[in-house]
Amino acid sequence: MSERRKIVAGNWKMHTSMQEAHELFHAIGDSYDQLLLSEKRQVILAPPFIYLEQMSGWAEEYPYLSVAAQNCHQEEKGAYTGEISAWMLSSIGVEYVIIGHSERRSYFNEDASLLAKKTNAALKNGLTPIFCCGETIDIRNAGQQESFVAQQLKDSLWHLDKPAFEQIAIAYEPVWAIGTGRTASPEQAQEMHAFIRSQIAEKYDHSTADNTTILYGGSCNAGNAALLFGQPDVDGGLVGGASLKASEFIQIIQALT
Ligand code: PEP
Repeated sequence: MSERRKIVAGNWKMHTSMQEAHELFHAIGDSYDQLLLSEKRQVILAPPFIYLEQMSGWAEEYPYLSVAAQNCHQEEKGAYTGEISAWMLSSIGVEYVIIGHSERRSYFNEDASLLAKKTNAALKNGLTPIFCCGETIDIRNAGQQESFVAQQLKDSLWHLDKPAFEQIAIAYEPVWAIGTGRTASPEQAQEMHAFIRSQIAEKYDHSTADNTTILYGGSCNAGNAALLFGQPDVDGGLVGGASLKASEFIQIIQALT
């Protein structure tokens, strides 16, 4: 099996004042040595846009702690009041961007073709997209989760050639598990991660599939992280609520195998 990169990423969403962001970042930074991070075991923090520049400066002290944006605009620059482009993020040292989070898809009507453009913009500017996919509860109840996620990947990612795709990390985030306290079971997560990996192998090849980092997201916490991350195709997590509590987030990072 490949030595693919394991990641725990914290999505702070629209939370934290500047003071709270400072405290949270430094509580994690203060535990850095205990986290045993490395090239293959990394932590990413995705705060609100306005803290990114300062946080990426703080992160310089920690080689395997990086910052991510939660979104980017698909164009480089222009008359798009209120928007932030991948090009701008790259200019302040941001390395990752979350694309296609279910909250962006549902509250901001981001559709598959827009997400394909955002992915292209991120890659063009040297950012690593963390591309989110996942089904709603109705789709799961209908037993359609695999075909639904396969379509999400096809519609937003399969236009990429292999070298471009190899820059991407995927987050499987069942919508019914996000912020609900109802996490996927380790078996459900493993089944979907293995399915996503099989789709990548079919589209590109086995070695690309084997090397792709696939994170689980959805009510991941200190109590369930070890079992989830212990699954062979689960390469870490994208964590929302529990990433806002330093001690819990640190325990989640420590659950990385
Ligand atoms: C998320 O927002 O990506 C997420 C997984 O949230 P939570 O952990 O709160 O379910």
